[in-house]
Parts: sequence; C-alpha cells; structure tokens
Amino acid sequence: LIPVAQHIRAQISQSSWIRKMFEEGERLKPIYGEDKVYDFTIGNPNNEPPAAFREALLELASHPVPGMHRYMSNAGYPETRQAVADALSTASGKALTADHVVMTVGAGGGLNVVFKTILDPGDEVIISAPFFVEYKGYLANHGGKAVIVQSKEDFQLDLDAIAAAVTAKTRAVIINSPNNPTGVVYPADSLDALNRLLEAKGAEFGRTLFVVSDEPYAKIVYDGVTVPPVFAHIRNSIVVTSHSKDLALPGERIGYIAISPEIEEAPLLFDGLVLANRILGFVNAPALMQRLVAKLQNASVNIDEYREKRDLFYDNLTAMGYEMVKPQGAFYLFPKSPLADDVEFVRRAQKYNILLVPGSGFGKPGYFRIAYCVEKRIIENSLEAFRALAKELGL
Ligand code: PLP
Repeated sequence: LIPVAQHIRAQISQSSWIRKMFEEGERLKPIYGEDKVYDFTIGNPNNEPPAAFREALLELASHPVPGMHRYMSNAGYPETRQAVADALSTASGKALTADHVVMTVGAGGGLNVVFKTILDPGDEVIISAPFFVEYKGYLANHGGKAVIVQSKEDFQLDLDAIAAAVTAKTRAVIINSPNNPTGVVYPADSLDALNRLLEAKGAEFGRTLFVVSDEPYAKIVYDGVTVPPVFAHIRNSIVVTSHSKDLALPGERIGYIAISPEIEEAPLLFDGLVLANRILGFVNAPALMQRLVAKLQNASVNIDEYREKRDLFYDNLTAMGYEMVKPQGAFYLFPKSPLADDVEFVRRAQKYNILLVPGSGFGKPGYFRIAYCVEKRIIENSLEAFRALAKELGL
C-alpha cells in the first residue's frame, strides 16, 4: 500500500544521525539564538571559497565562452581533466592523462559511479570503522555488500583485520584519509602494506582488488603532514574526491574520479566510468564549475584557520578530561564518549545546546564526532558548556 520500496523505508527509519542532529540544530537556533546553539553536527564548511575562485567566476561571467552551458562529453571538458591529470601526475610521479580522469557530481556522485562500474551483485567492499556512513547507502545502490572491519585503537588501518575479511567475492577496499570522522592520515608504509596484501589476495582469488581512495580532505592537513599519493603506493587504485571541502564548494557539486595508469585495462575501466556517469543520470559534472576548478587545482581555502580551530578545541577539551586522538587533518574530532552509551551522551550534551553526532552514526559506538568547520566564536562560546558537561559526568 505504501508506495516506497521496502529497502528505502528501512533506510529512512535508520536515517543518518548527522542529518537528525543537524535538523535538531535548525529547530533550536530560532529558540535560543544562533550564538547560543553550539552546532557541531555537519561537515558544511563555514568559510568562503578562496579569492581565486571568485576572480575566475567574475572573469568567466564577463567573458562568456560560446556554448558554455551545453552538454559536453560525459567525462567532462578535456581541459579540466587535463588540469586534474597534471596536478595528480606531479603529486604522484605517475603519468596520468585526461583519459584517466572523469569529472563528477561531487565525491558522492563519483563514488556511485565507481561502484556502479566495478560491482557485480553480491560483490563485497571492505570498509574500516569508523566510516562516512553514506558508503553503505552508495554500495546498496549498486548491489554491493559492505563488509565492516574495525580500525586500530589509534584509528589506523588494521591490515590483519582487512586480510581476514577478504573473500572470493571481495572487489574493493575503501580508504578515506584524512579520515572523516577521526582526522587520521594513513602513512605511506600502511598503503604499501595494503597494496602487497591486495596483490597477494588478488592473485589467490584471480580478481582485481581495487582500493577506492575517497579523499575530499587531502589538502586539509596540519603540522607538516602530507597525504601520501595513493597512485605512488597502490597499483589498482581509484581516487574519488571533490572540491566540497578544499575549495569550500559543497553546494556546487563538483568532484572527480581518477584512475591509476597502472591498472590493467585502464581504458576499459575509464569507458565504464563514463557510461555509468551517463546512465546514473548525472550525464556530466556541472559545466560552469568544471571551467572554474580547472584553474584552481593548486588552490585551497586557508588551512591555518582550520588548524587554529583544531588546536583550540583539542587543547581545551583534553584539559577538561575528554580523551581523543589528535587529528592530523580534515575538520573533525572523534573523542571517546565519557558515557559508555554514546547516544545517551549526545542527549546529555544537547541539554547544554551542544549538538554532536554519536559514534554509532559512523559504525563506532562509544565515541562522538565534533565537526569544527564553524566560526571560531562558536567554539569559544561552547567551551563553558563542554566544561559544565564534563563536570556533570565527573571527568
Ligand atoms: N566522503 C567523505 C569522507 C565525506 O566526508 C563527504 C562529505 O562530507 C563526502 C565523501 C561527499 O562529499 P561531496 O559529495 O560533497 O563531494
């Protein structure tokens, strides 16, 4: 009787904690005032895109290119793909061309295109918890099965756990570094070890095992840490990313997929991705944004502002007794929940108008996530409330 598929009904009822808490914030703000609701729920950057973006936009608006609003190749504009390929070649030391790059509707669109292309029904994809919860929905869209393993105490990859999870049905491992929600970055030796593991298992099962590297936070790193380029470390790797975070353009939906030139039959994979982009109905990534980001591959928002916010939060919260791994990148903190029940902790925090997301929303109960891509004064104003909460809980 109800005109909604059962699996969608099930997903609605388990609807994302992030969205639930975000909506709670929208409800509370008119009641208490924007300044008195400490909303750390969503990774929606508060900053504006870099000045170079605005300049490129104004330039394009005042010198329009004929046909700039038309359809193009489903992969995107050759110049944009070439600009992305050049930046990735420089970073990784591998020779990418425009035919290794497909422009996409954000990383979310890109991940769907990748899974549509590489998964047969029932294929398994290994994910390390905690993880960006949308992966599960994206895999389900394409008949994929999420196989969850736990990351280590320090949230680094547990390669033994991944090895134990590989079966004859495995098709890929998703990695996300810098990580949402933990902010950890996987070092080069960990990627090398993952590559050796997948090469060996791939040979054993006679299948190509991909690493899908979801990396929208790659430019948001601190303390001199660099994110090792996956193409330099993992043969069968596919990068999916976007400019939602590094250029603060999440509403514009612009990202890309890049495939390692070392993948056997890379041209066939590329053709598959282009087809999937089309038949999923994305058709192509937004045209205007493609023209702009072609000029901005080396630009980013001010990372120092994020580092300051991380330090402000990390230093104060640890002094209050909250425990957490110090994040090396992204704009999240993932502390231990002072109560064993993270959902109950988040409810208690809500009484102080602090809005958080329980670790359960990332497949990791017993923790909570803070998104600190907010104005600095919101963090400053919230500290008293975090202190009172710590006191109530006897930290
Ligand atoms: N992957 C991760 C880890 C994210 O945190 C996000 C957004 O928060 C996305 C993918 C999707 O980003 P978008 O589709 O805006 O590029």
